[in-house]
Amino acid sequence: MSEKTVRYGYFEGRTGTLKDLQMCVGDGWKDLIETCFNTCVKHNVHVSQVKEKFGGLRFYVGGAPQEVHDIIDECERLSYKTCELCGKPGKPREGGWIKTLCDEHAGGCDEYCTMLSDM
Ligand SMILES: [Zn+2]
Repeated sequence: MSEKTVRYGYFEGRTGTLKDLQMCVGDGWKDLIETCFNTCVKHNVHVSQVKEKFGGLRFYVGGAPQEVHDIIDECERLSYKTCELCGKPGKPREGGWIKTLCDEHAGGCDEYCTMLSDM
């Protein structure tokens, strides 16, 4: 069986695999990307761009049914609670730019972080 692909990018005729899309953001969001990717494959939706902006996942599609938008909206919402690096529970952190990270990757020194490193 050949690898699943979606129409991807701004040029006609280009396709992307799940890996191509997952490469656009941190590893912690792999599962979120996979969920969006699968629904786009199923409905033959064109994915124009995948990126991180202001700490959240942005998964841009062209001409998709409501069902696809609902799934993408949910994944984008979840990305604000998921560390972009490791997938653990996280929240948006302000540094030079905003990233959604868990306590460990935010380099926090609160009790939760200490508890994690003791585990
Ligand atoms: Zn993390």
